[in-house]
Amino acid sequence: MTEQSRVENVVIIGSGPAGFTAAIYAGRANLKPVVFEGFQAGGIPGGQLMTTTEVENFPGFPEGITGPQLMKNMRAQAQRWGAELYTEDVTFVDLSQRPFVVRSDERELRTHSLIVATGATAKRLHLPGEETYWNRGMSACAICDGAMPMFRGVELVVIGGGDTACEEATYLTKFGSHVHMLVRSNKMRASKAMQDRVLNHPKITVHWHSEAVEVVGDGLRLTGVKVRNNQTGEIREMPVGGLFYAIGHKPNTDLFKGQLELDEVGYIVTRPGSVATSVEGVFAAGDVQDHEFRQAITAAGTGCMAAMLAERWLSEHSLAQEHHVLAQSHPEPSPAAAAEAESAGDPAVEEASFEENGQDDLDFSKTCHEGSYALRRLYHESDRLLMVKYTAPTCGPCHALKPILNKIIDEFSDKLHVVEIDIEKDPEIAEAGGVTGTPTVQFFKNKALVAQLVGVKPKSQYREVIQANLC
Ligand code: NDP
Repeated sequence: MTEQSRVENVVIIGSGPAGFTAAIYAGRANLKPVVFEGFQAGGIPGGQLMTTTEVENFPGFPEGITGPQLMKNMRAQAQRWGAELYTEDVTFVDLSQRPFVVRSDERELRTHSLIVATGATAKRLHLPGEETYWNRGMSACAICDGAMPMFRGVELVVIGGGDTACEEATYLTKFGSHVHMLVRSNKMRASKAMQDRVLNHPKITVHWHSEAVEVVGDGLRLTGVKVRNNQTGEIREMPVGGLFYAIGHKPNTDLFKGQLELDEVGYIVTRPGSVATSVEGVFAAGDVQDHEFRQAITAAGTGCMAAMLAERWLSEHSLAQEHHVLAQSHPEPSPAAAAEAESAGDPAVEEASFEENGQDDLDFSKTCHEGSYALRRLYHESDRLLMVKYTAPTCGPCHALKPILNKIIDEFSDKLHVVEIDIEKDPEIAEAGGVTGTPTVQFFKNKALVAQLVGVKPKSQYREVIQANLC
């Protein structure tokens, strides 16, 4: 069957707990689902859990599990049941014709049914000064950026009073000298347990009835925030070295405007007790249709419902094409597969993929290294292009970047040296490198910085930099 004539059973857009649970169920039903994991639109692949620390309320993990690890496990489980994954943003859907059309920059697919699990994106206030100081002391993800050297030992502000704000404020006490939470009313929306945690924390002060109105700085970095008391109208400047937004999310539904029924805020409207949308054969799961519960477990639950309803709909209309899938065991350990397996949470591969560097034995024939010792040696002695990856263990986008970069590293393995720097272990290296957020990838040729890519970029951008700078 050609690409043109092929029609998928079900395409899933989104890779949070809703998308991957739908993929696991559809895969187990022999439907061979196609998943667009997303790339940049609507946050990073893996969804909001990629920027969460401990998840303590997902059943089955009595000791808790980190958000990124939970997502790695779900992704691996979806792959095991035959889901075809594309790390691409969907740029266009046409639900007016059948089969439906789903398009990314790299491909166009036709599908009989569609599951929308695009989630929601962190909101920002766009305060005066924000454009200047964004990424220079301001962030919408404390869990990703909080460990940066610039936030250590200084006072920090978190805006919001929900679970995210409480979680982020608590996390930031590891780094900042003190954390201030700005809550705009006299109550918090967070769960009682989370509220107790911040209210009893000696390094956290909650400021009620407080709204940020402007951010200020010295031109290079944020140095303070102007805060208005909305009861008295008084405005004062708080001297802080970091500001983190935790004010909720906006549903990622731009693609579906005019095609699916949305509510006044933009959430997809589903039938009561169901995840069916206003278009037959299209189902919505997770935060994109849920403004009430918004939990990983409810997202997973609605993902399951969406896959089961899609399966039912396909069989009622005699459209299902069965693909019998035997659950796949661990991928073979080629470098590319190692990257994939590593991204699926195989710690053995993670350990094996990086050279353990002793103090006096650096194997220059190996491509990948880690730590400050390797960086110093390679910076001075390597005759290859040097790629330095700055990451943090809690940084979800770093996890998302790993399989992308590993594929690129495979392509150029004998022409590159790669060093990974964990900014929590080596904050002074990150500071010396002028790194302001993770992930950051710098390229050095003959000891000169030739390129820097901040955040998760398309594979093509890393490839272009490498090709342009090969010795
Ligand atoms: P929420 O929508 O729950 O909370 C948003 C907070 O931001 C509220 O305090 C809100 O104030 C405030 N806010 C909104 N807009 C503004 C504004 N313009 N200016 C100032 N403050 C503003 O979002 P969260 O991201 O905290 O949580 C989303 C969901 O994820 C929730 O269901 C939560 O329970 C869940 N979650 C669970 C976690 C866990 O279990 N570990 C961790 C994190 C999130 P107001 O109340 O006045 O509207």
